[in-house]
Amino acid sequence: MHNVAVLGATGSIGGNTLDVIARHPQRFRATVLTAHRQVEALAALCVQHRPELAVIADPALEAELARRLATAGVRCEVASGPAALTAAAAGGSCDTVVAAIVGAAGLESTLAAARAGKRLLLANKESIVMAGPLLLQAVAAGGGALIPVDSEHNAIFQCLPGGRPELRRSGVRRLVLTASGGPFRGRTRAQLADITPDQACKHPNWVMGRKISVDSATLMNKGLEVIEAHHLFGAPAAAIEVVVHPQSLVHSMVEYVDGSVLAQLGNPDMRTAIAHALAWPERVESGVSSLDLAACAPLQFEQPDLDTFRCLALAFQALRAGGDAPAVLNAANEVAVEAFLAGALPFLAIADVVEAVLAELPAQAVVDVGTLCERDRTAREAARRVLRNAC
Ligand code: NAD
Ligand code: MG
Repeated sequence: MHNVAVLGATGSIGGNTLDVIARHPQRFRATVLTAHRQVEALAALCVQHRPELAVIADPALEAELARRLATAGVRCEVASGPAALTAAAAGGSCDTVVAAIVGAAGLESTLAAARAGKRLLLANKESIVMAGPLLLQAVAAGGGALIPVDSEHNAIFQCLPGGRPELRRSGVRRLVLTASGGPFRGRTRAQLADITPDQACKHPNWVMGRKISVDSATLMNKGLEVIEAHHLFGAPAAAIEVVVHPQSLVHSMVEYVDGSVLAQLGNPDMRTAIAHALAWPERVESGVSSLDLAACAPLQFEQPDLDTFRCLALAFQALRAGGDAPAVLNAANEVAVEAFLAGALPFLAIADVVEAVLAELPAQAVVDVGTLCERDRTAREAARRVLRNAC
């Protein structure tokens, strides 16, 4: 029996995780549930899953959460604030942590789970993009496991011998990340000038949170995933390739030196990756239907358009620059995406903001979490300044 903390329980990954958990009451229990401000949704999840602990990140909502749970007759501990979130990730109520908070807001709790030696199921890609080496050190020091939930990385994990081995010794030549191309695949820059947030969030294959949906539309999501793959699997930038595959059935591939290419396929439904990560090294049913390849044929593959979708090129640039450049890229992107979602920045200007902030803040070595968070703040301020000057 695994006791699972679902950090970001009210989100898209959180909901899919709870769906898989509910299918296996003999194996998994959701013992910790957390959310940012969605107090009503969190209370409803507590009624359904009966956790030991519920954490609402916004302290102003703790009393309301407690009141709702008392009214519903749910007896569970209630806490709030960032420190409570971190304590929950590291605490005794769970042995497994699903890190499914969106953005840099998930960094501290992800690191805390790693340091505490939890089985860390990582969806929160921004934390490994920001703090890759620090996160891996924390996992090693804590003695737990790090299992990728992001579908591409979960696919690669499945195609490698024994999880996350040293690539060279395993005869791996390169990692091939597939990208759907997002809702605007094939469009020119001129056709992207007036894109609205709702258009950008309408992904052809996946239903996801709004931030990652915009990242998928700009291809920044694939850029973050290239950096994530670099850290997770120890692959140099030159050994990571991106290929556009609009059907999202091949979730990624590993090419070996003998020319073999292993791929992991399945319907585009995050419950496959989540079930794999939850049960690893075993397998459990996930609720995902069988793949009907004949009905999906022909499978298409094409090169990404780096001139139109510049965010992918900028992510490669940050990875090659090394140090804290990926953290700067991530911070600038979070600010730019928020502005785009608020209707305050044109779609194409997201890449401009990221590029300007990367140019303003050359890469520095990553020392510790404190300096990294300071750098994150500096990059956000720089991005806001660029935004003010642009609008
Ligand atoms: P979402 O927006 O649907 O959910 C985000 C969750 O994080 C919510 O529960 C929210 O309450 C919580 N949260 C947001 N801000 C917070 C804060 N400041 N403090 C504490 N909690 C906060 O997002 P999602 O689509 O589920 O994505 C979650 C993470 O998983 C992201 O990093 C994303 O890149 C990654 N991911 C998502 C998918 C997908 O299919 N949705 C696939 C791969 C990776
Ligand atoms: Mg992905």
